[in-house]
Amino acid sequence: MMYGALEAGGTKMVCAVGDENGRILEQISIPTSTPDDTMPKILDYFKTKDICAIGIACFGPIDLDKKSNTYGYITSTPKTEWKNFNIVGCVRGALHIPVGFDTDVNGSLLGEITYGCAKGLTDAIYLTIGTGIGGGVMTNGKLLHGMLHPELGHIIIGKRADDKGECVCPFHDSCFEGLAAGPSIEKRWGRKAKELSDDPKVWELEADYIGTALVNFCMTLSPQKIILGGGVMHQMQLFPLIRDVFKKKMAGYINTKTLENLETYIVPASLNDDQGIMGAIKLAIDAKME
Ligand code: ADP
Ligand code: ZN
Repeated sequence: MMYGALEAGGTKMVCAVGDENGRILEQISIPTSTPDDTMPKILDYFKTKDICAIGIACFGPIDLDKKSNTYGYITSTPKTEWKNFNIVGCVRGALHIPVGFDTDVNGSLLGEITYGCAKGLTDAIYLTIGTGIGGGVMTNGKLLHGMLHPELGHIIIGKRADDKGECVCPFHDSCFEGLAAGPSIEKRWGRKAKELSDDPKVWELEADYIGTALVNFCMTLSPQKIILGGGVMHQMQLFPLIRDVFKKKMAGYINTKTLENLETYIVPASLNDDQGIMGAIKLAIDAKME
């Protein structure tokens, strides 16, 4: 049986067909413009495929509450054309197959838990650090939704006294995303993040913010593994720095066997940037079984 997968992002829509093992058989990418322009292209692609269900891993905020009148909608996104757009309804109405739906980051986490480096775990976090910061959470074997869904990028953390930059989040004076996502790095240092690879002070400060946030997530969510993806995490030198900050700020308070080896606790995404689309395949598989 074949499954459709849609990784809906603010800049591109990745559409794929996969099998029950999460194997991607074919995929295309469509630039994200407006729903009127983009959705027909997506639907035209899937209409020609023999798929029995589709999974959508979607940028947000989105409504995941199946009892809500606006379940399946993209809600208060800053991308105004997509605000209050019923993406699940649109896809279901055109394809007439079961539709699985979750956040983009929960999709990536599901990909890693099902097919990647977190296989078999029941509690894990996937964090993307790119244009923004977002996090997917699984607790007790279930993707966490709660009242809405977690927004791990907007936890409030203190700006370091020697940080001459500013928090670029339009909502918060001092949040994780506003201090540590790609755009804030670029505003602080006045250059593209990837051109700053050789400047140690950039990554020392960045690792301080990320390591601090990870201690907070470890304390509150008790994950068995923390997976870091997104454009900024292509700077592999961040990993040892983040682990050092994590260890220092954890200060030995939690000392489980799992935390003895931070190299296997705080890890890069393992599926070659396919974790999101593979997670969307699993959302489709789960929707079919419901
Ligand atoms: P998005 O978050 O939009 O899905 P990405 O995860 O690729 O996309 O994130 C883009 C951001 O990541 C940009 O702000 C850019 O500054 C940063 N970025 C992309 N590639 C790199 C790199 N190699 N090193 C450091 N930062 C990068
Ligand atoms: Zn914020």
